[in-house]
Formats: sequence, structure tokens, C-alpha cells
Amino acid sequence: MTEIIRINPINPEIRRVMEAAKVIKDGGTVAFPTETVYGLGANCFDKDACGRIFEIKGRPADNPLILHIPGQGWLGRVARDVDQRTLEFASKAWPGPITLVLKKNTDVPDIATAGLDTAAVRCPAHRIALELIEYSGVPIAAPSANISTKPSTTRFEHVVDDLDGKVDVIIDGGDATFGVESTIINMTTNPPVLLRPGAFTVEELEKYIGRISVPDTVNRTAAPDEVAIAPGMKYRHYAPDKKLVLASDGTILRGAAMLSGDMEEPLAILCSSETANTLKTTMKLRNISMIILGSEDNLYEVAKNLFDGFRALDETQAKLGLIQKFDERGIGLAIMNRISKATGNITIEKFGDLQSMLKQEA
Ligand code: AMP
Ligand code: MG
Repeated sequence: MTEIIRINPINPEIRRVMEAAKVIKDGGTVAFPTETVYGLGANCFDKDACGRIFEIKGRPADNPLILHIPGQGWLGRVARDVDQRTLEFASKAWPGPITLVLKKNTDVPDIATAGLDTAAVRCPAHRIALELIEYSGVPIAAPSANISTKPSTTRFEHVVDDLDGKVDVIIDGGDATFGVESTIINMTTNPPVLLRPGAFTVEELEKYIGRISVPDTVNRTAAPDEVAIAPGMKYRHYAPDKKLVLASDGTILRGAAMLSGDMEEPLAILCSSETANTLKTTMKLRNISMIILGSEDNLYEVAKNLFDGFRALDETQAKLGLIQKFDERGIGLAIMNRISKATGNITIEKFGDLQSMLKQEA
């Protein structure tokens, strides 16, 4: 049985937070909102409770969890030998959507870090999350609150769809603010290495800590035999059940919109409001579901709606989803990273390829 606890995200009702915190203390699992996406949390020092997170999600054992703390003061409970550079950075950037990979404290069980000698640590900028951790009295290990491979959950309703009946508590705390996960950076190297682009932009990061290394594989899914830069990043991720492909440019999108007139198989186009307006004025858009992600002038809006859009694709009649490219600056880098994982890097370069793919899916 899953208990739903509704909590006000602006001004959390303390008694309700304490009720959820007791579940964490007792070794249970709680799905809770953060400013990035919803997390599926358990006491990070309890290996059985951490094990349940993996079971519930169907998560591979080699994909480590992020450890959540309410402030820098708890760093020593999960990490060791943290250098001055990292402490200074954390004092400025936390709470916020930035996760630091640090040397692990041996109190943290191996299962939480997938056997690595490093731990990924974050202090979320969300009152419910912060108070839940404080009242639990322990750092909370939490990956995103979705079934493994599916898009992360950015709304309470998505969490219910994926986890109802599987977790002890789901907190209903409204929508996540950013809609994409935290940025992960490895602080055990010099310069620090970007492991996953996220809600905290690279441009912003460099203002704080100077140059960081951004591997060119950041927006490419590692091949199965390739060592992924961040464990877990080699898997197909964030993916809708329906096939999703990336349009290499506007010609493909316009072609698709035209094609809809004489193809029987319905198609979905995931795009910006600007692209939607252009397509609407020139095309009939028969047999097409338009899923509008937001304006290209505000990529934060696109980020916020991205996983929701992936989930919406599965609700349409479409046989296939076609998504447009976005500018890789700022939060756009995270957007394109999630798109490349969700599409498994399938980019449509030629219009004919889209037609044959659509027939295949029919
Ligand atoms: P999720 O919160 O579901 O996005 O999962 C957490 C992600 O954090 C994993 O998929 C890893 O990529 C990353 N992560 C966690 N711990 C480590 C670590 N020690 N080193 C590198 N990456 C990590
Ligand atoms: Mg995840």
C-alpha cells in the first residue's frame, strides 16, 4: 500500500513532513519533490532500504544513487577529504541543482554507490526535500522517481503512474521547477569533469570554478562495451514507450508535416511553439499530434516540459515521435543530452528514412 501525503511546497506542514520522515527512519521508501525532478528516497546508510530503491525501479546494480543532504554541514557524513576548492564552491552553489562527485565516506554502504569509492552528493533547493532530510536525521539516497529507462517524473501524477503500490509514501508537492535532473560534476579531478549536463548550466559553473572539462561524449550514448563517463549514462534512458527520433533540421519537420497528408500512420511532432506556428500556417497537419514543449526564447520552459512531452507521446495515437533540435547553450545542453538518450541517438537526416521508419512502426 502506498500512502499519499500532500504537502505545501512553499510552506510545508511540519507534521506531514515528520510523518514521511518517520518512514525513512524506519527503513521505508518515500518519493518526494525536488527542484529538478521527483526523487525516490531511502536512508542512505540502510543497505536494505537502498536495495529496495533498485528493486522498485528495476535499476541495474551498477548505476549509483545520489546522496541528498540538507547543507554543507553534513558533507562529512557521506564524503571524506573534501578539498577547499569544493567547500568554497558548495557554499556558493548549494542548495541547488548541482551534484558533486567526491571521495566516499566508508559509512555509506557499497550498494548506494554501486561499489565505487566515490559518492555523488547534492543539497536540493526545495523546502519539502530539505525538511524531509532534516527530520529523517540521515542523508537520503535518491535517484529519480521513475521506473528505470522511463522519463524522469516531474509531476506528482507521473510518480503515481510509475510507483503507486510499489513505494511506502508518495509526497504530493506540486511540479518540479526545472524538469531536468541536476548537473553532475566530478570534483576528485583537476580540472573538474562534467559527468552529466543538467539544470545548473556549464556557463554558470565556470563562473564559480573556472575551466571544467566537458567530454565530447556528453551528448552521445556510450556503446554497450564502452566505459561510460558516469556510470548509468550508458543505458537507454528517459525513453517513452513509443519510438522517438530526432529531426536533423527544419526540412525534415516540414517534410513530415507535408507527408501527413498522404500517409495513414499517425505521427507526433515534439517541438517549440515557434516551430509549431510555422508548421501550422503552411501545412494541413493531418494525422499529426503536436506536442508543444515551450518557446525557443525560454529554454527553461522547454526543459520543464520535456519529460512531460515524452510521456504525452505515449498517450497519442502516433506510431512515432519526431522531435526537433534545440540550441545547446545554457540549459539547452541538458535538453539535448536527454533527447539523445531518449532517441538512442537516432537522427533522421533524410526524409525517406522517416517514411520507412513510420511504416515499420505501423
Ligand atoms: P538519477 O538520479 O536517477 O539521475 O541517478 C543518479 C545518477 O548519478 C547516476 O545515473 C549516475 O550517472 C550518477 N552518479 C551517482 N553516483 C556517482 C558516482 N559516484 N560517480 C559518477 N556518477 C555518479
Ligand atoms: Mg534517473
